[in-house]
Amino acid sequence: MSNTTIGIIGGGQLGSMLSSGAKNLNIKTVVISDDKDAPAQFFADEFIFCKYDDDLKIQEFCNKVDFVTFEFENIPYSTLSKINEIKKINPKPSINKILQNRLNEKDFLNNNNIRTTSYISVKNESELKSSKDFIPGILKTCTLGYDGKGQYKINNEKELDNLKINFENNYILEKLVKLKKEISVIITRFGPQEYEIYDPIENVHEDQILKYSKIPAEINENLFNQSKECAMHIAEELGYIGSMCVEYFIDKNENLYVNEIAPRVHNSGHLTINAYNVSQFENHIRAICGLNKVETKKLYNAKMVNLIGEDILVYRNKKLKDNEFFFDYLKNTIKENRKMGHLTVIEK
Ligand code: ADP
Ligand code: MG
Repeated sequence: MSNTTIGIIGGGQLGSMLSSGAKNLNIKTVVISDDKDAPAQFFADEFIFCKYDDDLKIQEFCNKVDFVTFEFENIPYSTLSKINEIKKINPKPSINKILQNRLNEKDFLNNNNIRTTSYISVKNESELKSSKDFIPGILKTCTLGYDGKGQYKINNEKELDNLKINFENNYILEKLVKLKKEISVIITRFGPQEYEIYDPIENVHEDQILKYSKIPAEINENLFNQSKECAMHIAEELGYIGSMCVEYFIDKNENLYVNEIAPRVHNSGHLTINAYNVSQFENHIRAICGLNKVETKKLYNAKMVNLIGEDILVYRNKKLKDNEFFFDYLKNTIKENRKMGHLTVIEK
């Protein structure tokens, strides 16, 4: 029995699956969240409910754990750096600071000669009106957006002129890519030049929310290699420890663009639980605890479907085949566009 305990900041489904991954390794988990209904409390050994600026609770959390990680990137930087002074956090808070802001993230990528969509910073009405070169495009809040939240598609100049935005946040306007496909690559970095990397995953979004993922991705060998190499380059440049995900666009001419980087485990990697010998979650725990790297191998081809809103209801009573794996996130209320669970089907 190991004596290690890890602390996870954030209590959503990724926190739940990280807790289950830790359990496989006999590692205990303490989840801290500002949502008293956080579903990860049903999977963790211990749960602390508090605001992220509650210093006493944060101290209590740190006292209980050996290593700290997080399951969502929008934790205030001040909270992360405070915790990092007491217990080691991986990935490092400085990485989070870059990646939790879409503009900083894209600047970082371009400074490293990695191709992204073309983009422009938009801080006010007049900058917006003079950004016609980026239309058709998508206006996105620089911070705090997810699952398409805080995003506005602008199809033509007329829509641009009619768009009403209150500029409480800074925005980025990205030129629309004529998408052929979207893929993602999940990589776990253990240290300098030490990786486990999963094969590219093909993703389908509906209303800007991930709906389906599958392996193998139907892409040519060049894109297969390029997307993996690029993920390694990014992880190395960031000095990243743990699992991270690089989301890519592929356009009609087979060009590869990085869309965004998630400094955490990722929804598109849920199928690694059933399709690989070591999941993205277990690899993440291994890396942040400094455990041995185990050669990560694909066991099966697989497909995953996100169960969004009421999709979950049918599955709660469904008899499953032996190649189907149903995950119920145990969220207390069903909401439209809320990820409630997922189903992975492996090809045996
Ligand atoms: P989120 O943080 O919500 O995942 P993304 O920037 O990844 O935000 O956007 C969500 C989805 O919206 C993408 O996966 C893609 O399907 C679509 N999308 C976003 N930006 C663009 C773009 N510049 N061109 C084409 N499609 C886009
Ligand atoms: Mg995304």
